[in-house]
Amino acid sequence: MPPADRNADEKFLCVSLHDVAPATWQDCQRLLDAIRAVADIPLTLLVVPRYHGRETESIPYERMLGNLLARGHELALHGYTHLDCAPMSPSPGSHFLRTVYTQREGEFAALDAARASRLLELGLAWFARHDWPVQGFVAPAWLLSKGTWDALRGYPFKYTTTMRYFYTLPQRQSLFAPSLVYASRNAVGRTLSPRVATALASMMQSAPLVRLGLHPRDARYPRLVRHCQQLLERLLVSRHPLTKESLLQQWQGGSPASDRHPAPPAGILGD
Ligand SMILES: [Zn+2]
Repeated sequence: MPPADRNADEKFLCVSLHDVAPATWQDCQRLLDAIRAVADIPLTLLVVPRYHGRETESIPYERMLGNLLARGHELALHGYTHLDCAPMSPSPGSHFLRTVYTQREGEFAALDAARASRLLELGLAWFARHDWPVQGFVAPAWLLSKGTWDALRGYPFKYTTTMRYFYTLPQRQSLFAPSLVYASRNAVGRTLSPRVATALASMMQSAPLVRLGLHPRDARYPRLVRHCQQLLERLLVSRHPLTKESLLQQWQGGSPASDRHPAPPAGILGD
């Protein structure tokens, strides 16, 4: 996809698969199959090296990731354990976000820079052991503490994303691109989130980038999977699908137009 072939007004679609790990692979595979049934598009797989603290090494799983990489998909680091083990803060907002909203999975929500650095290093070492490239870091639940933002300056990541923004690193230029996502954890979320995703996709019709984020749990609800397939079909009519690392190349080559404003003050509520 050389930049010269792309129209400056072209619009893009990034589809990410969150929480990729041996323990979630069966559901991940179902989502990959469902997406492929619509179109064989490049995806960004958000990989968690020690999901929920499990030591599991799985050669077939790692072989599958290697094959996906070889076929043009991207692997990005999505935390190390996906568990928020930092001490709780007395702030009620933070408490709600970290316990009820994320169910203590926002691993980087409250870390100081030293702890965030340690986990980033472990994640990078895991990628290095497999000899896999990694350009992106996406925090679990998209929650980055100030310490995490500070720590990211010390590592060669090229981008990160929050729920609403795509950020270049280390510059932290931002592109407004809220992620379409399903709230499959509970019945209300499963009913409402497809409608919200449809509405948001319409509102973002002329935006340079639309992001769609899928979680392994989504695969267990056929209605959500069908909605996702229909949404993808509609988005692909007018959007070019690409991985986040390819999107970054496009952006840095002059397209899509970014907000070009500095990042908002970092905090766990972030975006
Ligand atoms: Zn996650």
